Amino acid sequence: MSDRSAIEWCDATWNPVTGCTKIVAGCDNCYAARFAELFRGVPGHPYEPGFDLTLRPERLKQPLGWRQSRMIFVNSMSDLFHKDVPDEYIDRVFETMEAADWHRFQVLTKRSSLMRDYLRRRYATRTPPAHIWMGVSVEDKKSRVRVRHLQAAPAGVRFLSIEPLLRPLGKIDLTGIHWVLLGGESGPRARPMDADWVREVRDQCIENSVAFNFKRWGGLRPKARGRLLDGREWNEFPSRPAASAPAEAA
Ligand code: SF4
Repeated sequence: MSDRSAIEWCDATWNPVTGCTKIVAGCDNCYAARFAELFRGVPGHPYEPGFDLTLRPERLKQPLGWRQSRMIFVNSMSDLFHKDVPDEYIDRVFETMEAADWHRFQVLTKRSSLMRDYLRRRYATRTPPAHIWMGVSVEDKKSRVRVRHLQAAPAGVRFLSIEPLLRPLGKIDLTGIHWVLLGGESGPRARPMDADWVREVRDQCIENSVAFNFKRWGGLRPKARGRLLDGREWNEFPSRPAASAPAEAA
């Protein structure tokens, strides 16, 4: 949890849950796991439990105390829709996000079917708030199924986080998607990303009028290779569309 973030595309991170378990290839070099495990067993450290899933109820109301509007990445150190996070706890996270409507919240998951099912229940009879942005991670062709789950979920803004991009994605259905973030992997075991894989995604965003944000090439050090693609930065953010119903049934 932090009220300031070093992540370029948000102003703050908020971790009412920490810890997670790896489920797909995109998790192999998870930064959050690496970081949290550094402190396992250190008495009194917030990451004393390492990367074990841990609910942090004392942090639940934190964004309500931040009076200035911020772009908040929710659970940068976990996945809110992990199967061991009870629905009642997710309810409390959403209650805070709904009440703190002067912020924008970005919720990103790899547990996309659980997210879809939760949002369908929560917004069955009301409009999902436009300041809560819901996203899924995509790293290879197989994971495109998460895009279908996201399209089938009621959400104010829908986004894809394509990071780390591990293989070419081919054609992506961008119906109902407002924003695409893309980046290569960083760290000592970073897997390479081909420029043509990136261009293929960017061109589909342009074709479909979807905001495109290229975060970085990645490599051993996150910023060493910069973030220029074809001679320029790509820094687009979604305009604030009216909250939208599911694009299709899953
Ligand atoms: S789902 Fe996200 S937080 Fe959880 S292990 Fe995978 S990359 Fe890490």
